[in-house]
Amino acid sequence: MARFKNKYFFLLIIAAIVVALYFLGVYGNGKEAFIPDIENKDTSYMNDVYSGRRDSMVQEQLVARGIKNEVVLKSMRSVKRHLFVPERYRQYAYDDGALPIGLDQTISQPYIVAYMTEAVNPTKGMKVLEIGTGSGYQAAVLAEIVKEVYTIEYFDDLANNAKALLDSLGYKNIKVKAGDGFFGWEEFAPYDAIIVTAAPEDVPKPLIDQLKEGGRMIIPLGQAGTIQSLVILQKKDGKVEKQTAMQVKFVPFLRK
Ligand code: SAH
Repeated sequence: MARFKNKYFFLLIIAAIVVALYFLGVYGNGKEAFIPDIENKDTSYMNDVYSGRRDSMVQEQLVARGIKNEVVLKSMRSVKRHLFVPERYRQYAYDDGALPIGLDQTISQPYIVAYMTEAVNPTKGMKVLEIGTGSGYQAAVLAEIVKEVYTIEYFDDLANNAKALLDSLGYKNIKVKAGDGFFGWEEFAPYDAIIVTAAPEDVPKPLIDQLKEGGRMIIPLGQAGTIQSLVILQKKDGKVEKQTAMQVKFVPFLRK
């Protein structure tokens, strides 16, 4: 009898653990529990709805706020932001804000993506470095315009997800790697432009070194959890000119 009871008790514990893990997986949004579920599910049946929302996003959030560069607007009209957010947030993909992508990270607000892209004055022949791949959305927006995009992500899981998604979307001109973006990506330097999408307190020196003469970098600077400054740097005659564009709030720049 005792053995019989023990067996059922044991099974009950196992069942409880399975249920707990299930709910953690479905509803968990904590640091470890939620690995981004970017499945790139077929959403083609909703293409019309999303393409309409994307046009409105461009008109109401970007053009209305002063984004003028036609190549940037064209790219923002074509990259399907809904594929870069976890499925549960897909319906909010074209809203005016950042969205969680797991591991306490976010995909930036569309306006900020457009603003940062416009700020580096992207053109066809350029080679651009991005620090903070996240979902891969900013990299895709850049890749529609420039020749080559190199992007570094701190978290392996996010880097792998972004790489898989960008590959499945057919981007041949984006290289993703996992690592600490503080050191830039020496192998392919120098870059015509650098976009940093997480906020350090100071500009990492290797990034300045890897920027071409005449090149531009856009980077949020400031302490985590405070209002930060979005700064545009330009390298001229070996010196760096700085100009603050606006106040922003980015996730912190992490160090290994
Ligand atoms: N550009 C992204 C936004 C991601 S948020 C997008 O379009 O979705 C910023 C990202 O920077 C996060 O994914 C975070 O993990 C990453 N990050 C933070 N510190 C980093 C570092 N030192 N090197 C590389 N990536 C970093």
